[in-house]
Amino acid sequence: MSLSVPRGLLRPRDVIDHIHDITPDFLAERGLRGLLLDLDNTLIPYGSYEERADVMRWAADLRRADTRLYLLSNATGKRARFWVDKLGFEGVGMAGKPNPRAFHRALASLDLPARQVGMVGDQLFTDVLGGNLAGMYTVLVRPLAVNALPHTRAARKLERAVLKRYGHDWRP
Ligand SMILES: [Mg+2]
Repeated sequence: MSLSVPRGLLRPRDVIDHIHDITPDFLAERGLRGLLLDLDNTLIPYGSYEERADVMRWAADLRRADTRLYLLSNATGKRARFWVDKLGFEGVGMAGKPNPRAFHRALASLDLPARQVGMVGDQLFTDVLGGNLAGMYTVLVRPLAVNALPHTRAARKLERAVLKRYGHDWRP
């Protein structure tokens, strides 16, 4: 993917260090009632099947505060289903992010307008681009683990160049 994407579509509204920075107050201040959540390197280290008590607690706390959650992952359907079962809220794998189709389906499932939903993920070219295309509030979170796949490493370099233009010193 080139850097010729219209200026702004790759720009996250917030850049945070960890999902724990997202609290009911954080969401209320931004008028958000739901979140679409990326899986790999956002909630769970890439490829891991190990349950993380802190993530489960975080998700449960948000849901208790009436935040609607949905897992939107490009991982395999099998991997996404494993985590949907663990996490206890809806979601899909093979989402094809940044293709807006999956975002629109997820929004319909949450029954919320795009402007009231945040997209939270660790990648600019899938999570942030897709969220912005769908008219959502986008939150970029620092990746939990360094992914050694060559295409991901290349994307990280491009992400860093884009974010530098937006004034963020991004070192995943
Ligand atoms: Mg990810």
